Amino acid sequence: MQKNHDVIVIGSGVGGGTVARRLAENGVNVLVLERGDWVPREADNWSVASVFHEKKYTAHDTWLDGQGNEFRPNIYYNVGGCTKFYGGSMIRFREKDFGLLEHEEGISPAWPISYADMEPYYCEAESLFDVHGDDNGDPSAPWRSKPYPSPKLTSEPLVQRMADTMRRHGASTSALPEAIDYGPKGQCIRCKTCDGFPCKLGAKYDAETALIQPALATGRVNILTNCYVQRLVLGADGKRVEAVEVMRDGHVEVLRAGVVVVSCGAINSTALLLRSACDTAPKGVANGSGVVGRNYMAHNQTALMGLSFETNDTVFQKTLALNQFYFGDGEYRFPLGHAQMLGKLQGGMLSANVPFLPKAVGSTMARHSMDWIAFSEDLPDPENRIVLRDGKVQLAIKRNNLKPHHRLVEKLTSLLKKAGYPIVLVKPLIRHSTSHQCGTVKFGVDPATSAINAHCRSHQHENLFVIDASFMPSSAAVNPALTIVAQALRAADHMLKEDFRTISQHAA
Ligand SMILES: Cc1cc2nc3c(=O)[nH]c(=O)nc-3n(C[C@H](O)[C@H](O)[C@H](O)COP(=O)(O)OP(=O)(O)OC[C@H]3O[C@@H](n4cnc5c(N)ncnc54)[C@H](O)[C@@H]3O)c2cc1C
Ligand code: SF4
Repeated sequence: MQKNHDVIVIGSGVGGGTVARRLAENGVNVLVLERGDWVPREADNWSVASVFHEKKYTAHDTWLDGQGNEFRPNIYYNVGGCTKFYGGSMIRFREKDFGLLEHEEGISPAWPISYADMEPYYCEAESLFDVHGDDNGDPSAPWRSKPYPSPKLTSEPLVQRMADTMRRHGASTSALPEAIDYGPKGQCIRCKTCDGFPCKLGAKYDAETALIQPALATGRVNILTNCYVQRLVLGADGKRVEAVEVMRDGHVEVLRAGVVVVSCGAINSTALLLRSACDTAPKGVANGSGVVGRNYMAHNQTALMGLSFETNDTVFQKTLALNQFYFGDGEYRFPLGHAQMLGKLQGGMLSANVPFLPKAVGSTMARHSMDWIAFSEDLPDPENRIVLRDGKVQLAIKRNNLKPHHRLVEKLTSLLKKAGYPIVLVKPLIRHSTSHQCGTVKFGVDPATSAINAHCRSHQHENLFVIDASFMPSSAAVNPALTIVAQALRAADHMLKEDFRTISQHAA
């Protein structure tokens, strides 16, 4: 392995993977440290029993809830991070999400950058993930300077029929932007085990296939797997990160590079910064402001199953988005949020989440259901915190802004009933929900109220960046991964210019 790395990137998810690829393609040598291993391509990738019942790929970690009760989080420690298991929805935040938005329960704050600052990077992010999309029918879609790189994924007949009926009842749906290698030359076969599963064919664009593999192909990136970063070590004056202390094969090692990028995901980046507290950073690294770990958000989320007597023979179901009520519904002036189809639910997936449900009943329900998920914005609250308790991660969280979410769920329920699904089952996904975790190391211009600047550089430590879902000062109401990639590209271009005196060949 090459010894002299310019940059250490901790974590190989979409945050870390994007930075590694962008820097390496512009001549910078990068060492990626990843606590997990590669996800093997194997039959179990598409097995409901392995993925949902045995939780074969879910991290073996134990966190605490607000009351101090232990739980196993639904999180993934492997090359590619959570995106190995994500649904592939790669959707832009709306233009107004970057400004101050009023909600019934409070304010969604303005970002230090505008949608216009981010737009060129959204185009590049979509290109890296070959996003298939089309904004027709989406009244909230932000302007774009380039079309989607690939055409929308068409809906199968029953899904299309539902969309047509919803439109007749005043609710317009649109194509859900998706990052899969589908098309005449693509490897994707549009199977039913995409959302929540790793792709056995490597046809899902995730942080491994779209970022880490191309980064390694440059020859300027090395990755150490099963390499857990315990601590960042500051220099004597506290202004720079001098070293990174890792645990590998049961031994502690110390690694060094001129620039260090923390990309462990919103919760684990927080844990690493807090664990690294020392004399010059008594509240934790990058935490002079005290905001690290605060303002945790993860969306208010509810899954819905519309049931009818008809068998739903749809295979690849995740093709529709509903943004009609994103900023309100006419009678209610506050934002309600977004809904999208889930990958086709299967009986085993239901019984894994509802233990008393007999598998046969679950299978019958799943054969007759149309499956959706609704997301609404949760608001940043400094008291919603990730803290360390006896070395363990604790989520001390109280949900907020639930009223618009309930309203969105009611609207979608009513639409499903009108579309021929008379029974609609709803399951709030609120307890221990970490899939859309963000906000805990927020970026901003004021070092008194934010941990990192608008390019994700620590206000306090000049060679430290935090680049993952944690930078977001608000959560908007759509999936976060595309926005993480876009901001990571922005931050990496800034790093190239300021730290390596290089103008990115790909600068947006
Ligand atoms: C089931 C599921 C479905 C989802 N579907 C979608 C979707 O369709 N669209 C979308 O936009 N978003 C989706 N999301 C959310 C999306 O996956 C995340 O927002 C995104 O992956 C977060 O990226 P990240 O880089 O911040 O963190 P992560 O993906 O968590 O990556 C962090 C990496 O750091 C590593 N790491 C952590 N701590 C350490 C340490 N101390 N030392 C070394 N390495 C460490 C981890 O192992 C991991 O690989 C989904 C999430 C889940 C769980
Ligand atoms: S739908 Fe395509 S990308 Fe998704 S798991 Fe199946 S083959 Fe892979």
